Amino acid sequence: MSDGNEYDLLVIGSGPGGQKAAIAAAKLGKRVAIVEKGSMLGGVCVNTGTIPSKTLREAVLYLTGMSQRELYGASYRVKANITPQDLLARTSHVIGKEVEVVRSQLLRNRIEMITGEARFLDANTLAIDDRARGERLTVRAKNVVIATGTAPARPDGISFDNYRVLDSDGILDLQFIPSSMVVVGAGVIGIEYASMFAALGTKVTVVEKRDTMLDFCDREIVEALQFHLRDLAVTFRFGEAVTTVDVGESGTVTTLASGKKVPAETVMYSAGRQGMTDALDLEKAGLEADARGRIFVDDNFQTKVDNIYAVGDVIGFPALAATSMDQGRLAAYHAFGEPTTKLTDLQPIGIYSIPEVSYVGATEVELTKNSVPYEVGVSRYRELARGGIAGDSYGMLKMLVSTEDRKLLGVHIFGSGATDLVHIGQAVMGCGGTVDYLVDAVFNYPTLSEAYKVAALDVTNKIRALKAFS
Ligand SMILES: Cc1cc2nc3c(=O)[nH]c(=O)nc-3n(C[C@H](O)[C@H](O)[C@H](O)COP(=O)(O)OP(=O)(O)OC[C@H]3O[C@@H](n4cnc5c(N)ncnc54)[C@H](O)[C@@H]3O)c2cc1C
Repeated sequence: MSDGNEYDLLVIGSGPGGQKAAIAAAKLGKRVAIVEKGSMLGGVCVNTGTIPSKTLREAVLYLTGMSQRELYGASYRVKANITPQDLLARTSHVIGKEVEVVRSQLLRNRIEMITGEARFLDANTLAIDDRARGERLTVRAKNVVIATGTAPARPDGISFDNYRVLDSDGILDLQFIPSSMVVVGAGVIGIEYASMFAALGTKVTVVEKRDTMLDFCDREIVEALQFHLRDLAVTFRFGEAVTTVDVGESGTVTTLASGKKVPAETVMYSAGRQGMTDALDLEKAGLEADARGRIFVDDNFQTKVDNIYAVGDVIGFPALAATSMDQGRLAAYHAFGEPTTKLTDLQPIGIYSIPEVSYVGATEVELTKNSVPYEVGVSRYRELARGGIAGDSYGMLKMLVSTEDRKLLGVHIFGSGATDLVHIGQAVMGCGGTVDYLVDAVFNYPTLSEAYKVAALDVTNKIRALKAFS
């Protein structure tokens, strides 16, 4: 084989994890190639997941006028009859731009892009099949990063036709805005899409096997979200499993194990995702995946085969674009002996429901379980001038503070700007800051960031009151 096909690092998959692994290695002066199938440059993140769903949400918020209704009245709309084309035009535009950003970053860093599906021949040798061109390439690499991500899991016995029965990939080929929809699965993706369709006026029924949803979030905030979604005509069926989905001429009927039947124009499945490892021939490299297609790695993202790393959704929780990027960077550093720190535990979680939810640090449930004494400070957007200006009367920021050393233990936000605002709390917590910093800090006025100061004063007053008794 010629030297032309030998790399210091071969990355499989061009999503956030793969991109950042490739760029980090290239910055260290290594010869790097990234393999990607057909038209998926940028991965699930850019093409079918994060970017399209967040762009759709933005289009929904804008066109429905949803976020302006407190100010202009319940009937306010930017466009009366919103069509899939209205929503998807914005999505394709943003996807196109993002693909170009990824391509240009890879080119600037002299990373070779190879089109095709990669599979192992041994731990250092891979075959890459470009079926569209009928070409096969064999490459060798000192190190390999597997960043192949996931695909929606499709339960047996359900016929997906991308018209009446779809998953989150199928939403991007949506042909009509349904008047009613069943969403199966109340995970992050299910709830995000349930809110978008509810905002569009679709009557949504969410069916979830568990008795609750988003268990990892603050309970009070999840309750607030459920209240808001119910207000948008969302029905929750918790503790219920789907047995069959029957498709007819004019719609679908979803039958639940309890015997209930839910008619709807469409059904959207969001019942977990499966690691993309089947095509990799992992066993030829001495590796295997679990039943959900996930690869096991250690804290350095190294698999049990020393020169092979795995990052991003293919290694499981938290399966977020932001985390995947850092995992990729750290894996590449470790592979080439560059000093690294471990991935920080302080990772924000963002849920782009309508309204949005974000948090960092511990929840009340976790602190209580671990017997960590804390006090809660709350700020409500309706008391902030910016909340009034923006027409957000429901938003809130909740801060959990240690009553022992006054350090911030967690920040939970519901409402406009939550996913951005959370980073203030993250920065204070990351630097080991106390609530006193937020009491003394001067914030721009009028802003939503002011919520930090209000919540900090609230919690400080509560801690002071506690001291008065002890
Ligand atoms: C609907 C939806 C909404 C989301 N919203 C958010 C959000 O708001 N915020 C957030 O942080 N995260 C979000 N995510 C998750 C986020 O998209 C993922 O965490 C992220 O894309 C994972 O990155 P990755 O590096 O694992 O690769 P992925 O983005 O999953 O890409 C993997 C790539 O590998 C390629 N590939 C697979 N097998 C092979 C092979 N054998 N050869 C060559 N190429 C291969 C695939 O074609 C794919 O392009 C969302 C996901 C979905 C589905």
